[in-house]
Amino acid sequence: MVKRYDVIVAGAGPAGAAAGAVLAGRGLSVALVDRATHPRPKLCGGLLTAKSVDALARVFGLSLADLAARGGLFHESPQYLFLHQNRELLGGAAAEPFRFVDRPAFDALLAGVAVARGAELLCGRAVEACDAASGLVRLRGGEELSASFVIGADGANSVVRRALGPEGYDRAAWRRDLAAAIEVELPVGGGPGQFPRAVSVPELHVGGASVPRAGYGWVFPGPRGPKVGICGLRRSDQDFGAIMLRFLRLLGVPEPEGVALHGHPLPYGNALARPARGRLLLAGDAGGFVEPLFGEGIFYAMATGAHAASAVLGGLRSGEEACAVEYERLLARTVRPEFVWSNRLRWCLFWAMRHMGAGPIRGFVKSAPAALAEMVHGGRSFRLLRRKAWEWGEGVG
Ligand SMILES: Cc1cc2nc3c(=O)[nH]c(=O)nc-3n(C[C@H](O)[C@H](O)[C@H](O)COP(=O)(O)OP(=O)(O)OC[C@H]3O[C@@H](n4cnc5c(N)ncnc54)[C@H](O)[C@@H]3O)c2cc1C
Repeated sequence: MVKRYDVIVAGAGPAGAAAGAVLAGRGLSVALVDRATHPRPKLCGGLLTAKSVDALARVFGLSLADLAARGGLFHESPQYLFLHQNRELLGGAAAEPFRFVDRPAFDALLAGVAVARGAELLCGRAVEACDAASGLVRLRGGEELSASFVIGADGANSVVRRALGPEGYDRAAWRRDLAAAIEVELPVGGGPGQFPRAVSVPELHVGGASVPRAGYGWVFPGPRGPKVGICGLRRSDQDFGAIMLRFLRLLGVPEPEGVALHGHPLPYGNALARPARGRLLLAGDAGGFVEPLFGEGIFYAMATGAHAASAVLGGLRSGEEACAVEYERLLARTVRPEFVWSNRLRWCLFWAMRHMGAGPIRGFVKSAPAALAEMVHGGRSFRLLRRKAWEWGEGVG
């Protein structure tokens, strides 16, 4: 027998949990399906901006105290550093701190809110296929579920995305705009593969041969030791493993060849133009909703998951077409303009760095550090640093 729900959400990361929390909070029957079981590993720097903290309160009803108690919040720093070839370009302090969470605990907390509001969490169940016209979802092993709407939030390697068909999902374009990301968490010490110093201030490394072209590197505080990562567009045909080794050497890690490197694709400028089709909507990494300059994805996963849920609330009353229209309206008022402007900014910066060295980027980060920090946190837009407030849809506080 095919079990029926109002909504099936594929993937219980931040995007799926947000969608599940909003929909279950409105009394709908929701299946939140994940191939893994929380807490599950997730390669991520775990940096949360102020807008993410706001989204956690609005979408999940979670405070910073909740995050500290159960959500893996382990560090805060208002300070930040920009570096070029490991030399400081700018050190600053933002009005709001940057916060760091351990993703397994964080994601488990968010999914737990959806469950507490009534969503049914089906863990260890991988979605294998989805039919956008009927809302039928097939799980590995042959089990089938059906729903009035399906939200695909199954991450960058989404299976559900295929159901958009060639009009919604151009595989070649998707691959062209994808970034490769590598991140490792290292113990502090002087031995092989160890990081030479403790890290309490997040660092962004730009330019030079030790980070990818059309990308950057980072050193973040981590829960067990510093996290070192790189990401860059894959189309630039770079050897990311070799770059990561150079980066680790530049940072003073002895014998980095022995460090086990872990990678994951990062949508980096490939937000889908048409992320809804029939009864299906894509949110989070599955829809490519990652900010194209800094690669921030947690906030946009929560935001697009919540937007998709708001659109579904309308869609259940007014039909599939109204649902797709409302989803696009919310995206067009929030995520899309930010991505257009951050994309412009990144190409200016990448071009300047490649052709003119570190000078222009030094000038850029020093021009208005407080306003730029606000831009990252969400109080100002990527569009010419205008002040801005985020807009939320139905069902979000
Ligand atoms: C190295 C790296 C560092 C990053 N650092 C940061 C950072 O510091 N700050 C930030 O904001 N963003 C960061 N990001 C981006 C961020 O991790 C993502 O944008 C975010 O996790 C997206 O959330 P999501 O819910 O869309 O997808 P995910 O978090 O990937 O969740 C998808 C879920 O779907 C499940 N799933 C997958 N396939 C299936 C299937 N077939 N069936 C059922 N379930 C399935 C998975 O198990 C998973 O639970 C980083 C990304 C990378 C790769």
